[in-house]
Amino acid sequence: MSSISNALSFKHGLSLWCPHSTSVNQISQPCSVSSKIFRRRFSVLASSFANENREFVIVGGGNASGYAARTFVEHGMADGKLCIVSKEAYVPYERPALTKAYLFPLDKKPARLPGFHTCVGAGGERQTPDWYKEKGIEMLHEDPVADIDTEKQTLTTNSGKLLKYGSLIIATGCTASRFPDKIGGNLPGVHYVRDVADANSLISSLEKSKKVVVVGGGYIGMEVAAATVAWKLDTTIIFPEDHLMTRLFTPSLAQKYEDLYKDYGVNFVKGASIKSLEAGSDGRVSGVKLENGSIIEADTVVIGIGGKPAVGPFESVGLNKTVGGIQVDGLFRTSIPGIFAIGDVAAFPLKIYDRITRVEHVDHARRSAQHCVKSLLTAHTDTYDYLPLFYSRVFEHEGSPRKVWWQFFGDNVGETVEVGNFDPKIATFWIDSGKLKGVLLESGSPEEFQLLPKLARSQPSVDVAKLQKASSVDEALEIAQASSQG
Ligand SMILES: Cc1cc2nc3c(=O)[nH]c(=O)nc-3n(C[C@H](O)[C@H](O)[C@H](O)COP(=O)(O)OP(=O)(O)OC[C@H]3O[C@@H](n4cnc5c(N)ncnc54)[C@H](O)[C@@H]3O)c2cc1C
Repeated sequence: MSSISNALSFKHGLSLWCPHSTSVNQISQPCSVSSKIFRRRFSVLASSFANENREFVIVGGGNASGYAARTFVEHGMADGKLCIVSKEAYVPYERPALTKAYLFPLDKKPARLPGFHTCVGAGGERQTPDWYKEKGIEMLHEDPVADIDTEKQTLTTNSGKLLKYGSLIIATGCTASRFPDKIGGNLPGVHYVRDVADANSLISSLEKSKKVVVVGGGYIGMEVAAATVAWKLDTTIIFPEDHLMTRLFTPSLAQKYEDLYKDYGVNFVKGASIKSLEAGSDGRVSGVKLENGSIIEADTVVIGIGGKPAVGPFESVGLNKTVGGIQVDGLFRTSIPGIFAIGDVAAFPLKIYDRITRVEHVDHARRSAQHCVKSLLTAHTDTYDYLPLFYSRVFEHEGSPRKVWWQFFGDNVGETVEVGNFDPKIATFWIDSGKLKGVLLESGSPEEFQLLPKLARSQPSVDVAKLQKASSVDEALEIAQASSQG
């Protein structure tokens, strides 16, 4: 065995043999095993895994899984050792593409696989099915894990396959929240977008659609509505809140985006709740009935009302009751030794703000995967120190008169200062107790976008009055940068 695999087996040995603990904090401490017991058990485990080609199993074939696979390869620990069990028919891909370039109209060069397999989103190699074969990674497709036995270290898939694992990484992401069947949530013509199969089904509806209703004013709603505009379809967005993206945008910022969407012909029904989705005589969706009794006609309805962590068969691993998902520590270790969770499904300590959180964004999926695998395979013990990044980009199809591209870094807490007229630039600064905590920038230059994480990470004290007087986004960013240097 090479030195790295010795180190690895040692590390696994520790993690696999720790007594099961209910507290993640407990497992972040080294286990106290006597060296005698340790040596005896180590030799038993080493021999039982000597020819085990499922030394590492990743459950889930999404964003985090693809980046985790790359990190295994980078450490020379994939070939014949790593198995990925996926519900999907495809090897991991950059999921955000599904509501962006994937939904471009068919005559405007839509993205298609294999074009956006991970890790192209972060400027890495495109990991096609052949890449996994070449790297010796076993891929099991369309066979989700249905059960786990943490004592025996086995997984059972839907088809009945029994897989033994040495270490397990849970990367099952989220599932889209759905409207119940009894109010028409599964009618033909009603769509949810989580994977390629969902996006393909939506595209086949859009091809014959005239009127689209998008339910939800978050990322998915905004991105899908922008796509249906590109298809030149009559589009209405309905949501219960009083403005778009309430989780992040200020009312003033949301207004700018809403005005832009309206310029593109999108209708808004705000502050409205859905009573039911109505079916026509052909059984397809024909409209959306609101609580006030009014009906908005539609032949295609897209529901974007958020997601739920796909904890599926893994409840026994330890859930976080406040933010949902599987509780992990700063090295992505769950309460059960040898089992890790990454990406959307992981409830992790957000060190910079000293709270436990889940982040349903791709940047965290990538970074958590890399951090987890690096800590699993090496002596790396630095805890994850993540700075939240959210972004979106819409209206990017060929011939679009106005592309929209924003990024947000940090925490959206405290008072806000908005600078710029959205023509095309605008910036919002979040300032809490005099410190800059978060910043959102629309249509910035690459250099300006690079500045945002530096500002949000350093949390400089800023002169709010000075920032408010800035005559342009450029000037405001200069003021913020000078504060972080001073
Ligand atoms: C349409 C869409 C657009 C998005 N746009 C953006 C964006 O613009 N910016 C941004 O930052 N983020 C965006 N996101 C969020 C981002 O894609 C996710 O944060 C990221 O994909 C999370 O990675 P993950 O690996 O944790 O989960 P996922 O990528 O969702 O992968 C989870 C995988 O696990 C599989 N799985 C689930 N249960 C099982 C099981 N029991 N057995 C086997 N496999 C299982 C799923 O089928 C899936 O393949 C978007 C998400 C969606 C759906």
